[in-house]
Order: sequence, then structure tokens, then C-alpha cells
Amino acid sequence: MKVIVIGAGFSGLSTATYLAQAGYDVEIIEKHTQPGGRGRQLKRSGFTFDMGPSWYWMPDVFEKYFADFDKKPEDYYKLLRLDPSYSVFFENDLLEIPADMNGLEALFEKLEPGSSIRLKKFLNDAAYKYKVGIEKFVHKPSLSVFEFADLRILKGLLKLDLLNNIRSSVKKVVSNPQLQSLLEFPVLFLGATPSNTPALYSLMNHADMSLGTWYPQGGMFSVVQGFYKLALEKGVKFHFDSEVTGFEYDNNQVVGVQTLKKNFVCDAVVASADYAHVEQNLLDPKYRRYSPKYWDKRKLAPSCFLYFVGLSKPIPGVEHHSLFFDASFDDHADALYKNIRWPEKPLFYISASSKTDPKSAPVGQESLVILIPTAPGMEDTDEILDHYFELVSDRLKKHTGMDIRKHIIFKEHYAFRDFVKDYNSFKGNAYGLANTLDQTAIFKPSLKGKLKNFYYTGQLTVPGPGVPPCIISGEVVANEIKINFPLR
Ligand SMILES: Cc1cc2nc3c(=O)[nH]c(=O)nc-3n(C[C@H](O)[C@H](O)[C@H](O)COP(=O)(O)OP(=O)(O)OC[C@H]3O[C@@H](n4cnc5c(N)ncnc54)[C@H](O)[C@@H]3O)c2cc1C
Repeated sequence: MKVIVIGAGFSGLSTATYLAQAGYDVEIIEKHTQPGGRGRQLKRSGFTFDMGPSWYWMPDVFEKYFADFDKKPEDYYKLLRLDPSYSVFFENDLLEIPADMNGLEALFEKLEPGSSIRLKKFLNDAAYKYKVGIEKFVHKPSLSVFEFADLRILKGLLKLDLLNNIRSSVKKVVSNPQLQSLLEFPVLFLGATPSNTPALYSLMNHADMSLGTWYPQGGMFSVVQGFYKLALEKGVKFHFDSEVTGFEYDNNQVVGVQTLKKNFVCDAVVASADYAHVEQNLLDPKYRRYSPKYWDKRKLAPSCFLYFVGLSKPIPGVEHHSLFFDASFDDHADALYKNIRWPEKPLFYISASSKTDPKSAPVGQESLVILIPTAPGMEDTDEILDHYFELVSDRLKKHTGMDIRKHIIFKEHYAFRDFVKDYNSFKGNAYGLANTLDQTAIFKPSLKGKLKNFYYTGQLTVPGPGVPPCIISGEVVANEIKINFPLR
């Protein structure tokens, strides 16, 4: 049985590899000339940049993925646990977040005596939510509410803190504003303000503080290469530089995939490319499950501005991952989620992978990725992008003493319109849909298309955005195909 997977991002690679291992004949059609999707790599003037994901969180998900093929991550890439995990710049202070729990508790005690005991309890609860989430929820296809009607699951649900919000639960742990920001940071990109994000998502604090921040040598792209190599080993065939433009149908089934170069016959399709793009632009209207109005009403996680910068010398006082929380968290969240606008004084993040990985920049130089979260759907211009680069450079100068503008060897920006052009991204979204309660599990766009043999995977369907959820999404959809189209 021939399955065509559209897109070679993490979800497409995962789907294809699980299906190939089960004996399906799998081919991936990918628009770009390299695998990885949002996890692609940019190489310029001797500098190497990860174009999307840079935080390797939830190592257990990667371990399970490789173990399902009797492999280990180390068979494909070398991991290093970062210590400090990351640092956070506040207006007049710098916090380095230690990787080990004793160091973390000591930091909390220093800033707020007595808080480490509450932190321990908060992280124990977060670990419970993570365990229940991973074991009982994220592997569900979420096609029917009855999947969750098991007594153990319902009991688990009650303990998941779905009705409280993350802000109020963080406030019970710490009153120091810096520690509050630290505990709220993992939800900043989830698509809602902390007071509108269910406390369930404190499971991300477990991922952050207990499971740790890791770095795959060579960057996140070495993980892509590992996934790609494993897919090839399992017999997946790849067609790069090929954009899917439409489908052929027969008797309520998809029977062919059209590209600009050639057409492919198939017995089933899994679209890992942007769900809204495939459904609204490529599928015949009568086979669409959702209307343009439905898509328009979805709440999206932020998009972002990215700057890939090669510097002639290292930037001092900055770790591999640095968060700049030297502005108001609430004002930026308001611009992202409530009163949509360009933020006046945004928070931002920089990744300086050359601090850990000498290969990502020429000797004595530095490769920087600067990321500013922005509201999706707003049209950017070069002037706006330049304005924010100036603003970020000024703030970096204030904190590090170095004016990066004077040391630029290479600089390229990437924004809303690039997400649309490169990934056919709906409204230029970077991280898919917001993780709000009304867009969780059965309330997400379904992984099952209207046509009998048409499926979706990736960050716009279950379980959600981020590399680990997309890997799981691939496994879930592969299982659905194995159940509904078993090989004889
Ligand atoms: C800037 C940024 C930073 C991020 N940081 C992190 C992080 O630190 N950690 C983390 O875990 N996650 C992070 N994420 C999220 C994570 O990268 C994504 O959720 C995940 O990679 C999405 O994978 P996917 O397979 O769903 O989609 P994609 O990676 O978008 O893959 C879809 C593929 O489909 C292809 N395609 C589209 N249309 C067509 C077509 N018509 N024909 C053929 N091919 C097509 C695209 O080229 C693409 O390769 C980040 C994302 C971004 C953008």
C-alpha cells in the first residue's frame, strides 16, 4: 500500500518512518531541498544557524521515538545538557538558571526565602501533570470524546488543574516578580496570556526545570539529520524540491497527488504541511472538513521576527540561551494576544550556539539568532524589521557593553511573509494554534480528513505545536492508518 506524506518536517518524518517500519510503501514529497521544515538549517559566510527550534526539551520523547526503532538518540547525534540551562536578563539583574535542582532551589531561596519548599511542591505537581499528559492524553487521536471516558483518565483529569490559570498558581508559589516571570516563561509562546492559560501547562515547568535544556551537537538540524537517516534506513523515499499543488480523487478517496513536476499515485495521503493551506488551497472544496470562517476563528500562537547574525567577535556575558525580560511581560503579552499591535518594548530571546558549538561560527566569531515574538497575521516591512533590530541592539549594548551593529559580518531577517512563502503558513504562524482549553484534544482540527484515506499531522492538529508533540503526532496518525488500512 502506497502512502504519500506531504512535508519533511518532524511530523512528516515521524509518520513516514513509523509507517515504513510497519511495511507500508512510503514516499515524502517536500517543497524544499532539505528535510526539517521549520527545523531547517541556514549556512552563510561560515556561520550555521538553526532556522526554527533551538531548545531541545522533553528528551524522553526523542528517546521513545528512537527506541521504537531499536535505536537511541546517541546513534545519530550527541547530546549535551546545558548548565546554566539559560540565563534571564532583567532590567538591572541577570539570573543564570542552574541545571541541577539544588542550585535552582538555592536561587529561589536567595531571591525569596522559603520559596524553595513551595517550588518543590509545584514541580512535583507539574511532574504529575506531565506524566498523565504523556501517558494518557497526547497519544490519543482525539477523534471522539469517548476516548477520554475511561475512569482512570477522568480521575486524572480532575487533578490536572484545567480550571485554574497558570498565573494564579504561580502566584501561590512565589511573590518575587523575577521568579514569577521565570515560572511563567514557558507559556509565553503558547498563545494566551498567563492568566488565560490553564494551570495544566505548568507541566512545561517540569520539562524546563526538571528534565532540562539539552543541546544536540551540530544544532537542532543534527536531530533532523538523525530523523532523516533513520527514515532512509527504514526505506522511506524522498522527493525534494517538489511542491504539492492538488489531488486526484475517485469514489470519495484520494488516488493521486499532483506536484509541479509530476503526479504520484497513492492509496492514502498524510498532509504534514500546514493544515489550513492543504485543506483550503489544495483540496477540492467538497472534501474540506472546515470552512474559511472556522479557520479565521482559530486562535493562533505568536509568529515571530528572526534575525540570523554572524559577528566578528564573541558577545560577552551572554550564554547559549538568553531571555531578555528587561521589559514588561504583560505589555508584550497584551500586544500579542489582546490589543494586537507591534509591541512597544518587546521581550526577546537570543541563541548564541557558538558558545557551546565552535562549529557554528568561524574561530573567534559568534553566530546569533535573535527572536522576537509578534502577533500573527500582521504585515511586516523591512522598515519595521530594521526598527526592531535597532531596538534589540540598543538593549544588548546596555546589558553586554557591546554594540553588535559594529561587528556584523552577516545578517538576514526572517518574518511573517517568509513563513507564508516558505511553509505556506496560515496567517504566517510560527508555532501553530494557541494551546487554550477550547483548542485542545477533540477541539483541535481533526487529524482525520473528510476523505476516507486522507489524514493530517503536525503542529496544527493533535497534540499540538513544538518538536516533541509533532513527533508524537506522526506516531498517532501512523497508528490510525495501521488500524484503518491494515496490510494483509
Ligand atoms: C522560530 C521557531 C522557533 C521554534 N522553537 C522551538 C523550540 O525551541 N523547541 C521546539 O520543540 N519547538 C520549537 N518550534 C516549533 C517547532 O519547530 C514546530 O512546531 C515543528 O517543527 C513543526 O513541525 P511540522 O512537521 O508540523 O511542520 P513543518 O516543520 O512546518 O513541516 C511542514 C513541511 O511541509 C512542507 N510543505 C508545505 N507546503 C507544502 C506543499 N504544498 N508541498 C510540499 N511540501 C510542503 C514545508 O516546506 C515543511 O517542510 C519553533 C518554531 C519556530 C518557527
